Amino acid sequence: MFTIANGIILKGANLVPHRENIVVDEGKIIEIGKDSREGKIIDVEGAVVCPSFINGHIHIGDSIIKDEGYSLSLSEMVKPPNGIKHVALANASDDELIEAMKSSMWDMVHSGTTHFIDYREGGIKGVKLLKEASKDVPIKPIILGRDDSFYGEDPDLNKVKIAIRKILKIADGIAPSGFGEITMDVAEIISSECEKAGKISSIHVAESESNQIESLNEYGLSEIEKGVKTNFSQLVHLTNPKNNDLKMVCESSQNVVVCPRANATLNVGVAPLNDMLNLGLKPLLGTDNVMLNSPNMLRELEFSLKIMSVYHNDYIGPVELLKMATTNVCGFEINDVIRKSMIRENDFAEFVVFNSFSKNPYLNIINRVETKNILYTINKRFNV
Ligand SMILES: [Zn+2]
Repeated sequence: MFTIANGIILKGANLVPHRENIVVDEGKIIEIGKDSREGKIIDVEGAVVCPSFINGHIHIGDSIIKDEGYSLSLSEMVKPPNGIKHVALANASDDELIEAMKSSMWDMVHSGTTHFIDYREGGIKGVKLLKEASKDVPIKPIILGRDDSFYGEDPDLNKVKIAIRKILKIADGIAPSGFGEITMDVAEIISSECEKAGKISSIHVAESESNQIESLNEYGLSEIEKGVKTNFSQLVHLTNPKNNDLKMVCESSQNVVVCPRANATLNVGVAPLNDMLNLGLKPLLGTDNVMLNSPNMLRELEFSLKIMSVYHNDYIGPVELLKMATTNVCGFEINDVIRKSMIRENDFAEFVVFNSFSKNPYLNIINRVETKNILYTINKRFNV
C-alpha cells in the first residue's frame, strides 16, 4: 500500500484538479482525500497526477522502417499490398519485428502510455507476434487483426467470415486498412462478426481528400458515410469530412480517433477537431504509424494544440485535448474490451505523476513536460 501525497490530481472523466492524496492498494485506488494517508508516503509536492495515456491508434509493426519513404504519398507509403510498409513487413524476420515492436512499447511506457490500440498486419501470426513482444512490457496492447482474404473485388465471403472468427479468438477486434481495399460486403461482415463477439471493428476513413473523392465518384457515398452505414465501432482519421459526415458520425455514436501528426507527415490535411468537439464527439488521439512518428503522446498533444490554432484559426481547450489522450475512452461502448480507467475511488490505479512547471495543470502536461519529467507511472493492470 502507498500514498501519492500532495499532488494536483486530475480527477474523474473531466480531469478536474484537486490538491489531494491518493491511496493505492494492490493496484486499486482505495481512497482520495486531503487527509488520506496510508502505507508508504510518496510526497510529490505540487506535481500533476493525470490518468495514464491511451494511444488510440497505432501500427507498431512498422517500427522496423522508421522515417523511410519520407515525402512519398499516402498510398505509396501504406496502401496494401505494395506500399513500402507492407513490402518491409513481408520481408522482415519474426525476431526483427518483435525487437522493433518491443522497443516502441518501451518508448510508450516511458512517455506515460499504458494502453494502445494497434492495427496489426499479418493475420493471426501478426497478432501472435505482438502478444509475444508485449509479454514482458508493462503496457496493455488492444490488438485489432486483419487477413489477406479481405482484399480484392470478388472475395470469398465464406473464407472472410472464417478468417475473422479465427482472429477474434485471440484478438480484441478487426481492422482492415480502408474502403479502397475491401468491398462493402466484407466491411459488413467484419462489423457484424465483431459486434456478435463483443469486440472492436475499426477502419481508416477520409484520411485524404482523394480517398473521399474516389469514394464519392464510385459509390455516391463518402468514406465516412460508408463507415457509418457498415456500422464499424471505431472510425480513424476523418481528416477530410464532407457535408454532413461529422453529424452522421455523431448520430451513430461511433467512436472516433484522430492522428494529427501522422496526417501532417503525409500531407493530407488537419482533422477539424473543434468541429468534432462542438458536435459533442469525444475523439481519442493516436500517433498512427511508428514509421511516420514516435509513439509519444506528449508530442502528439503539443502538436495537436498548436496545429489547430494555425490551421483552423481557433483555439482548442487544453482540457478537452488532454481528455482525448486519457478519459475519452471511458465513454466508449467498447469499454469492456479496453478496460481503461480514470482517477476515482475503487477504480484501477493507472496514472502518471508529472513534474510541474506552470500553474495550468493541462498546459503543464501538453506544453511543458518531456518524458524525462515523468516522476512515476502507476500501472498495475497491464497483464489482467
Ligand atoms: Zn493508421
